[in-house]
Amino acid sequence: MNARTQLIKFTAVWLAIFIICSILSAFAYSSDSDDPSKPSDSDDPKVVDKTKEDAPDKRPDSTDSADTPDDPDDPATDPDSGTPYAELTYSAENAQYLIFVDAGHGWFDNGSSVRLTADGEYVYEKKDENNRTVRDENGDIVYVTESGKTVTEDEFEYVYEKDINLQLAKKLKKALEKMGYTVGETRPGDANEDCPVNLVNGIFYAKDRPAYVNEQGADYFVSIHCNTYTDSAVYGTRLFYSTTRDATLRLATAILQSMQTTMSDKVTLSIDNQLYILLYSSMPTVLIESGFLTNADDLAKLTDPDWQDQFVCAIAKGVDADLHAQAAQ
Ligand SMILES: [Zn+2]
Repeated sequence: MNARTQLIKFTAVWLAIFIICSILSAFAYSSDSDDPSKPSDSDDPKVVDKTKEDAPDKRPDSTDSADTPDDPDDPATDPDSGTPYAELTYSAENAQYLIFVDAGHGWFDNGSSVRLTADGEYVYEKKDENNRTVRDENGDIVYVTESGKTVTEDEFEYVYEKDINLQLAKKLKKALEKMGYTVGETRPGDANEDCPVNLVNGIFYAKDRPAYVNEQGADYFVSIHCNTYTDSAVYGTRLFYSTTRDATLRLATAILQSMQTTMSDKVTLSIDNQLYILLYSSMPTVLIESGFLTNADDLAKLTDPDWQDQFVCAIAKGVDADLHAQAAQ
């Protein structure tokens, strides 16, 4: 055996050992990740930790659709399992429809607002017998709670309509996307660069929104607002339509029916022939006054994430019902 043969033999033996080791370690890893209950690696905390760290990263890459977290049919992996979103029906054909969601107000426009103490009591400006705002010796407004207690400005906070509108609009977008629809937003957020057009005085005025949504070629348009009223006893959701446009009544009626089948809240149809959103949009449009900030029960619902989920899913189902009824004709 000469030196060259010896070298080849030596290399071949080490190569064989290397290959065998590689195969064994590959088996060890695959059996480890396939069977997390297997105790074999429990002695080696490093290996166990590595597997745990890797597990969440592997899920989105999985080619098995049953394992993807977004699969609505698999309650084990659907993050919306047990929520109203899980009951929405997905259709790939819905992607051809563009639905615009309008979160009312925003940027420098707060919309309507109420003042609340940390205990949830409403705070009002104190009025005199002539219903004029009372001011103290420094000229500052005097505030009182529902129970008549005088409070200073640092004892209450404002709840702004624009914030609730945005929460509801984001959730409605999610619901519609769950059904496969393409969704556009007039107000994706309140940073200046979020506005799809140039802000005027820091505001994207409601009167300018229909023209923008028309330009985008939207098939449906849903505008989300919240109401206030001087009488705190007034409550409920109002679905606004215009008698000048049949498609607004049709859509509002579909959403009303959807809400009545899934929720027990008071919902009414309301006429408004002055709203720009209803008058100047060219597709089926509804303006939803979700509830009254000035009514304690409504405000509790409007700020309850679970109620919000139910509410937006009922809207999404109503839009879907009207759209498919129209498409079938
Ligand atoms: Zn509003």
